[in-house]
Amino acid sequence: MTGIARTELATPALLVDRPALDRNIAAMARFVADRGLALRPHAKTHKSADIARRQVAAGAVGICCAKLGEAEALAAEGIADIHLTSPVVRSDAIRRLILLNDRITLSLVVDHPAIVEALARAAEAAGRTLTLFIDVDPGTRRTGVASPGAAVALARSIAAAPALRLGGVQFYCGAQQHIATRTERNAAITQLTTRLATLLDALRDDGHPVPVVTGGGTGSFAIDAELGVLTELQCGSYIFLDREYEDCELGGGGAPAFERALFLDSTVISANHAGIVTLDAGLKAMATDAGPPRPLWPGARYHFMGDEHGALLSDGPLPMLGERVVLQPPHCDPTVNLYDRFHLLEGERIVAEWPVTARGRAT
Ligand code: PLP
Ligand code: MN
Repeated sequence: MTGIARTELATPALLVDRPALDRNIAAMARFVADRGLALRPHAKTHKSADIARRQVAAGAVGICCAKLGEAEALAAEGIADIHLTSPVVRSDAIRRLILLNDRITLSLVVDHPAIVEALARAAEAAGRTLTLFIDVDPGTRRTGVASPGAAVALARSIAAAPALRLGGVQFYCGAQQHIATRTERNAAITQLTTRLATLLDALRDDGHPVPVVTGGGTGSFAIDAELGVLTELQCGSYIFLDREYEDCELGGGGAPAFERALFLDSTVISANHAGIVTLDAGLKAMATDAGPPRPLWPGARYHFMGDEHGALLSDGPLPMLGERVVLQPPHCDPTVNLYDRFHLLEGERIVAEWPVTARGRAT
């Protein structure tokens, strides 16, 4: 449905303010270009070929994907340079990976010698070079090697395999991205990055050049840029500015002030009591891991009321039955994955519809 007023759109609906999105994309592109860094935005946030194309047009060297299926879906739409930020382990997935490596410029992370061996065999059989990044664990024990020694061992096994090439190192401090104050976030990222620098020295001392050090997110990119160890930034959420990130102190260090660009429109479907009305957007309308959304209704707060409903509570005036209420999603990435499409907004009109290209591509 395009060319209609926002108020005519069925709810709940996922909307993107296109001018705000473009300003966020441009602001980050300028920030990294001014500092001589590369930008490879994470597409797990939007899963959209349309948005990926806009990021590349603004200067991004390529994109990141979290899952192979996400990369396949975006490659099929013409995205030609993709880095996979999670390990690929299953043999069926390795077969798909090798096929994708034939079609686009691809790289992926590894964190275990057994997988390096499996990838070496598969790439050699296909007669094509595969580019690997050593994933470094910042201390969460999610993925990555835990020590400089383990990194050196992986680099040696990559160097020994004719079909493999070391593209660099990946370092993503996921647990630190949402530390609320910039001072505390700065201290945490600085401490972890010092350990990364020691690991990079160990790799270089062992004779392995590390051309790219990729990582960072919307919470850390300004700190990463100041520290100067990462060469490529993987920020994802900056394009939308969800409630969780807006509640963090993102500024400082010349970092741009991002704008809200992602919205959930809902409708009041019941209004029978003082101080409370009921909206048609509940647990199924958004990811709930980060708490409630921010209602863009002065003085009101949102409270989850089950699968299909949310309460809007206030001591002041509340919207009437049938009235529209705009919500800022709590956490953008898993919320986007609940919708088939973005409705693009300019002013108060719906000007386009973009599919969530890789929606549900979790394997
Ligand atoms: N890089 C990796 C490996 C990630 O897992 C993520 C998000 O979880 C990002 C980058 C993007 O981070 P953000 O959404 O905080 O910008
Ligand atoms: Mn996220």
